[in-house]
Amino acid sequence: MSDSSRRPELETASVKPKLTKAGSQEDMLAVEASPYVKFAVLEDLLNAARANSLWPLTFGLACCAIEMMAAGASKFDLDRFGAGVFRPSARQADVMIFAGTISKKMEPVIKQLWDQMPSPKWSIAMGGCTIDGGPFKYPNQYAIVEGADLIVPVDVYIPGCPPRPEALINGILKLQDKIKAGRRHKA
Ligand code: SF4
Repeated sequence: MSDSSRRPELETASVKPKLTKAGSQEDMLAVEASPYVKFAVLEDLLNAARANSLWPLTFGLACCAIEMMAAGASKFDLDRFGAGVFRPSARQADVMIFAGTISKKMEPVIKQLWDQMPSPKWSIAMGGCTIDGGPFKYPNQYAIVEGADLIVPVDVYIPGCPPRPEALINGILKLQDKIKAGRRHKA
């Protein structure tokens, strides 16, 4: 291997930067710095920090919320995974856990809460009701929303009626993997 292949920065640094139309110093600086500044690493670090400090919204819709509360209590202890700080304000939360049947009356409230959450934000559909209406889905029903994804983009689905706290923890770990890999729901 030649010296130059072992030290690519010397080669890159010798390339004369082209000025843009504006010809600003910032443009030149950006071109010169590009071999040394790796934004991908920064993004990885940010994603690791985001994944390990998820703050769910304090928000329950029906029976699945009891399992969610159990997951946050001492026996299961969501704090082990950095996701135990349930926030009372949507403006401080970055994960919405749909835990329970979504009634049509709640739909506008959920939309408002989701819009109040700062980006980047994620959502988990916990239980059959939030996946597709669950046991309350039947022809001509008029009371429930048949799936959380009809309201907001969903990142992780957790099946069950109700899913146990371990299943919710598994769902949170899956979400952490997804965030660390830089994958997002389709907004
Ligand atoms: S999935 Fe089952 S436990 Fe969960 S909210 Fe629906 S009916 Fe209740």
